[in-house]
Amino acid sequence: MERLCALSIPDIHLLLKRGDIRVQTLLDEAYERIEQNSLNIFVTLFKEDSYKRAKEIQGRIKRENDIDILTGIPIAVKDNICVEGHNTTCGSKMLHNFVSPYSATVVKRLEDRGAIIIGKTNPDEFAMGSSTETSFYAPTKNPHNNEYVPGGSSGGSAAAVAAFEAVSALGSDTGGSIRQPASFCGVFGLKPTYGRVSRYGLVAFASSLDCIGPITHNVGDSAIVMEAIAGFDPMDSTSIPENVARYYRDLNGGAENIKIGVVRGELMDCIDADVRDVMDEFTEGIKSTGIQLEDVDIAGFDFCIPVYYIIATSEASSNLARYDGIRYGYKNPELKARDTNLKEMYEVRRNEGFGKEVKRRIMLGTFSLRTGYKDKYYNKAIKARQKITTYFEEILKRVDAVLLPTSPILPFKIGEKINDPISMYLSDLCTVSVSLAGLPAISIPAGYRKGLPVGVQLVGRRLEEETLLKIAHFLEKTGLTGLNKR
Ligand code: GLN
Repeated sequence: MERLCALSIPDIHLLLKRGDIRVQTLLDEAYERIEQNSLNIFVTLFKEDSYKRAKEIQGRIKRENDIDILTGIPIAVKDNICVEGHNTTCGSKMLHNFVSPYSATVVKRLEDRGAIIIGKTNPDEFAMGSSTETSFYAPTKNPHNNEYVPGGSSGGSAAAVAAFEAVSALGSDTGGSIRQPASFCGVFGLKPTYGRVSRYGLVAFASSLDCIGPITHNVGDSAIVMEAIAGFDPMDSTSIPENVARYYRDLNGGAENIKIGVVRGELMDCIDADVRDVMDEFTEGIKSTGIQLEDVDIAGFDFCIPVYYIIATSEASSNLARYDGIRYGYKNPELKARDTNLKEMYEVRRNEGFGKEVKRRIMLGTFSLRTGYKDKYYNKAIKARQKITTYFEEILKRVDAVLLPTSPILPFKIGEKINDPISMYLSDLCTVSVSLAGLPAISIPAGYRKGLPVGVQLVGRRLEEETLLKIAHFLEKTGLTGLNKR
């Protein structure tokens, strides 16, 4: 049987339960594809551990007839999320030999439900980027066209799902890093409400924005994985103490009375014609289902990029101070501690351990937080962030979800933007505002242009992931989602 990793989690579950396939067969297929594809999707593979676990799980499937739906499901994890006993490199030379002393809460929760983590996927260095090109471990290639980027920073995770190297993957989203690569790779990507999923064990980039979420082939799988990882965690002080809905069980129904706000106005003038075309086609499709639509205008989208890059880099400059080469990180083997002073040691280790983009952000963030500049940049950005949140809240009083493109542009070629940071930052136009507002959003594959996937995103109210999943599922059932249309 081919392409088991293309099946949905419930379908695989059925095959495992009936004894039609074994857990090992799933792993064989996943690892075989990883080796054949050569898309540079994984930084580390957990082959030995996975097969050991598969053996134990297969035994459990034989013994028990009531197994969890996630039992034996191969899942890939972005390499900024800790898995005990394995490397967490964050795509950086700085952490090339760092071994996680514990597992992230999301990983524990998936493993407790029987899932198998097959390895760690390539990210942009410290999740800073939109193309997976800033990784120390070389760029990942887009499975739809190897000359193109898979998006970033969870490019490895999105590509793993798109290339059928895993059934599902976890990514992290600070300013779009689950949604944009999902869009570039033609898969679903769900960024939860900030605080809905524990960040414990996720290496911090910008702590007030970082979220973990699932990347999948279909909405049902997003619901299943999301349900497993969401919920309060005492180990994360920003985790929200609210019950988690039964996302998967309740996927059907309730989408009929929904009202969706479609983004128009100036923002759409900044969107590529191809992407706009897909968005229009998708909107027409929704209209024909009877879902009510209303035009909305997102105020303040023009200052989202600077606000995001000031806040994210400020937090990053503080979070990344811990990589001093003493407690964590790269040590230059030639530089002996006794031959140098402390300042020089920090300089050498940080200079050699971090890549160009990470350094740029540390400097930007340090600048924004400097005495005398803080009011002008950081404090101003915090105020603007509040405004952006209010704009969204106002719109979401009238509509249940907001529809807009996930990325203003099509996937671009490897190398095309890497030396033009401003153009790379501008490509985050459609995702960063949602992150600043802390809202949930799902990127849905909506079309194909020039041989490349295009996604659109639905943004929902705080903690209303359930509504987003229901709408996305409804649209999936009516055949609106996917990449088949040209
Ligand atoms: N592309 C954005 C950035 O470079 C978002 C990254 C992310 O969400 N991790 O900051």
